[in-house]
Amino acid sequence: MTKLIGLYPGTFDPLTMGHVDIVQRAVKLVDELVIGVAINRDKGPLFSLEERVSMVEQEMARISKVSGVPIKVLPFETLLMQFAEQIKANIIVRGLRAVSDFEYEYQMVGMNQALNEEIETVFLMADARYQSIASRLVKEIARLGGDINSFVPVHVAKALKAKFAAR
Ligand code: ADP
Repeated sequence: MTKLIGLYPGTFDPLTMGHVDIVQRAVKLVDELVIGVAINRDKGPLFSLEERVSMVEQEMARISKVSGVPIKVLPFETLLMQFAEQIKANIIVRGLRAVSDFEYEYQMVGMNQALNEEIETVFLMADARYQSIASRLVKEIARLGGDINSFVPVHVAKALKAKFAAR
């Protein structure tokens, strides 16, 4: 049987409990998972690529150990489908939150299917507790000194506090 290699791409600026929940579901579907951390200069990330990769890595080590599924964390700057081909992924994993995510994701899948028919995109939904979490809002709350502890892993909360304390 073909080995299923999943690619979960995102900006992860920063990693949230929503992302973590999606990864915990994705490892049930694939033999190997690659978390693709997009450089995404256009989005003007708060955390550097190195910081984002390191935050994701810390969490993935634990999930990989518990699930027994190998998880790699790799940065990428190319077109998503080129990166997927390069790492031999046959499944792309995306998370869906609200209806607002749908339109964008719908278009992306259409375009990606035109680029490579062999790679399927699957959408997963996080547990209801985590569905409304968005990196953008977490950063906003942290910037204004609000409590973000239930939205992100402990080490990410620390990194956010340090980032805003330094400003
Ligand atoms: P991108 O710039 O690709 O949107 P993100 O890091 O914001 O990067 O998100 C990566 C993926 O994780 C996207 O598919 C997004 O919909 C999904 N995601 C983010 N937060 C959640 C959440 N709370 N529940 C479900 N999926 C989520």
